[in-house]
Amino acid sequence: MYTGLAMSCLFCKIVDGTISSTAVYQDELCYAFADLHPQAPVHILIVPREHIDSMMEADQSKGALLGHLLWVAAEIARAKQLGKGYRIVINTGPDGGQTVDHLHLHLLGGRPLTWPPG
Ligand code: 5GP
Ligand code: ZN
Repeated sequence: MYTGLAMSCLFCKIVDGTISSTAVYQDELCYAFADLHPQAPVHILIVPREHIDSMMEADQSKGALLGHLLWVAAEIARAKQLGKGYRIVINTGPDGGQTVDHLHLHLLGGRPLTWPPG
């Protein structure tokens, strides 16, 4: 069921299946799926099922959930055999390059990634 802003949220619709996606992993707290415009051979988005706009809204009560999302990213990286390394990114707010206002982790890997990012 949608509430408030989540009614128009792209990732809430992906989580509930209204908009289709390629699932990679799911559990009671989160859903992971392939990015539509991959920036690396492995590019997976990990989103909490609960709508949270961004890290700016994540208070201490979300600590366990955020830890879980990081663990899921590492598990997916292990499953994808990214033993040479990978990057976990959380774009936050306009200056952070966030374009979808539902908190999400990017898992990027499968090629050497440059630093610093743009
Ligand atoms: P942000 O820029 O907010 O950190 O990341 C949003 C990501 O969502 C982008 O990498 C973009 O390619 C991805 N994305 C946008 N729309 C869709 C969609 O409809 N399906 C999927 N699977 N990914 C999407
Ligand atoms: Zn949402």
